[in-house]
Amino acid sequence: MTGDQSVIKRHQELAQKLLQPVYGHYINGEWVESRSRETIDMVDPTTGQTLAKIQSGVGEDAVRAVEAAAAAFPSWSATSPAQRQEILAEMGRRLKARAEDFAMIDTLDNGKPFMEAMHFDIPMAIEQFQVFSGMPWLIHGLTMEVPNGLGLVLREPLGVCAQIIPWNVPLIMMASKIAPALAAGNTVVLKPAETVCLSVLAFVKEVQDLLPPGVLNVVTGYGPNIGEALVTHPLVRKVAFTGSRPTAQKLIQYASVNIIPQTMELGGKSANIVCADANLDGAAEGAAMSTVLNKGEVCLAGSRTFVHVDVLEEFTEKFLALLARVPSGDPTEPGTVLGPQASRMQYDKILGYIDAGRKEGAQCLIGGGRREVEACPDGLFIEPTVFAGVRNEMRIAQEEIFGPVNVVIPWSDEDEVIRMANDNLYGLGGGLWTRDLNRAHRMARRMETGTVWINRYYNFVGGMPIGGYKGSGFGREFAAEVLNHYTQTKSVIISPDDGPMGVFGA
Ligand code: NAD
Repeated sequence: MTGDQSVIKRHQELAQKLLQPVYGHYINGEWVESRSRETIDMVDPTTGQTLAKIQSGVGEDAVRAVEAAAAAFPSWSATSPAQRQEILAEMGRRLKARAEDFAMIDTLDNGKPFMEAMHFDIPMAIEQFQVFSGMPWLIHGLTMEVPNGLGLVLREPLGVCAQIIPWNVPLIMMASKIAPALAAGNTVVLKPAETVCLSVLAFVKEVQDLLPPGVLNVVTGYGPNIGEALVTHPLVRKVAFTGSRPTAQKLIQYASVNIIPQTMELGGKSANIVCADANLDGAAEGAAMSTVLNKGEVCLAGSRTFVHVDVLEEFTEKFLALLARVPSGDPTEPGTVLGPQASRMQYDKILGYIDAGRKEGAQCLIGGGRREVEACPDGLFIEPTVFAGVRNEMRIAQEEIFGPVNVVIPWSDEDEVIRMANDNLYGLGGGLWTRDLNRAHRMARRMETGTVWINRYYNFVGGMPIGGYKGSGFGREFAAEVLNHYTQTKSVIISPDDGPMGVFGA
């Protein structure tokens, strides 16, 4: 058996063990076919083979799901904090109990290395259930006592929430959406990405006995076939979205039909700033991780590396040396660091940007194209790629590539680097490498971005908010403040006296 045949066989065996051949929509506690009667093949980006099929949803499916979620809302919103806490905690425990299986499903479906899914996706998704399992107890209002009445400010759930998620970190996206919504007493219609969603469907199967029918519904398929019917449905009270800006612009239009609240978690082109006094080994590791973690398909990736001229040469040498050692390969293998890009579309898009970088005159320091992996000839592999000679206005420095591509831009003056870092549509993440505490505080405050990591990139702290400045969206997730996005306030004023006030005389 040749190398590629053994990888195909291994992936097929894993798919047979972990997946079912066809998944339905999950509506009102049942797995059902789409009214379209059509399915979508879920393709393994390592082998090009079909792993399973999902329903190709249409508007009618979304309507059914919304109606089920609306019918389930009165009783779900009346559950006690203790009941919701127990259910959310159990969801986290079940994810943990089968962590390796869910990690492997994402590895097959998305191409992310198994070890990375085990260390990054699975713990972060579990943490969302842990964080939000405690939150039902924190949803409370306040009282105001004044002579003309007792005021009660109550916090109430919104109702049916439409939640739409992308394909890059499906379990984290799912957990960070459904856990706060359910904790606050809402019901949900979740629309995962058509490119990668098998781990989400497998997880919902795993926990379906925990939730009354209709509380959590899942409709799969192409966004444009489902989005409008879902978001403009008069029973939908909120839309929460993570994905690209063009889709966000459409969803905001749909949300304007019934004027419903929105949270938008969009893309990024985060600046990673290396100062002259930085620990260069740490900074080089952070930049390399920013380039290759999840094949660069991370919204928070530090994909613009600004390096002080005094350390440019030394930093670049260390950065490139790390990238030169990154092994690509079958992502199910424990030694693989870089897997294939998640889809053909994404692969073509990244190669297009690498071409654009060359055409704009940037100099490719490492990588710069497809990477052949003997054991996986049909895999969508791209080399870790770094450009120098980049001007901040070039497309490769301005636009989100969402692949293993980074740019190095030198700087010498603090004002100049802050101006370049902020000269971008986006403002999602960012890094800063310095041993000078004052500089760290000063520069972090000046960066127009939702998160700044100092001296360690991707240093996620559970329960801290994540979200965008500027074109990266609005609203926050991962933290208690998200509860404000899933509740609304009601003022109730109780008069001390039930007789007439005497406005019209005695
Ligand atoms: P995308 O906008 O193409 O798709 C995201 C989701 O929206 C998918 O489920 C898709 O089916 C759906 N969709 C597409 N058109 C729709 C429509 N008309 N109506 C309703 N739904 C529709 O984005 P993508 O390419 O899947 O994801 C990558 C993007 O997500 C990147 O920009 C990335 O930075 C961003 N992202 C952001 C965060 C964050 O936390 N801010 C996290 C992960 C990814």
